[in-house]
Amino acid sequence: MTAPLNHKIIVSPIGYLGLSSLHPIHLEINRIFGFQTIEQPLIEDLNFAFDPTRKQHYSTKILEKLVDLIPSEAIKVIAITDVDLFIPILTYVFGEAQLSGKACIISTYRLKESYHSIDSKQIYRHRMVKEAIHELGHTFNLRHCKDHKCIMHYCRDIDDVDRKTEQLCRYCDILLKDELKKIQERM
Ligand SMILES: [Zn+2]
Ligand SMILES: [Zn+2]
Repeated sequence: MTAPLNHKIIVSPIGYLGLSSLHPIHLEINRIFGFQTIEQPLIEDLNFAFDPTRKQHYSTKILEKLVDLIPSEAIKVIAITDVDLFIPILTYVFGEAQLSGKACIISTYRLKESYHSIDSKQIYRHRMVKEAIHELGHTFNLRHCKDHKCIMHYCRDIDDVDRKTEQLCRYCDILLKDELKKIQERM
């Protein structure tokens, strides 16, 4: 039996990720956005989004597919993959989201880069959580933030990711609360 999806955020791993657990992502989504989460794979194979010239996967194509597949009762979906993602204007992306839409995706591929610390597993986990919340933030209509510490700050490289915190700045927090209020009114 599957749990009801009403007003839940779906955490959707694509293929076998080799991660011990996506639990930290579930916890942080719940803490920041206040919605319950559920883990549910929706896409198994990403061949349709593979670009043979770049040898990477086109994230926008994956988002389009996610939107087709997401059950209508679910509020948002975040997909997690370990393949390298791109959009045509950039060398790579850590993830992509539909602004104010339903779907977003993150990739763990570039999050494994240049560990500085002995506690690499923990750094990796923090990076994953930051990117997940960042992309989901876009689906809740949050845009990029100038504050380097804010989770909605745009990251050009992995050092930018490590520099930011797992928190929204005060300004983004207010914007999110307004957005959540609007969503609650529509429910
Ligand atoms: Zn962004
Ligand atoms: Zn901010």
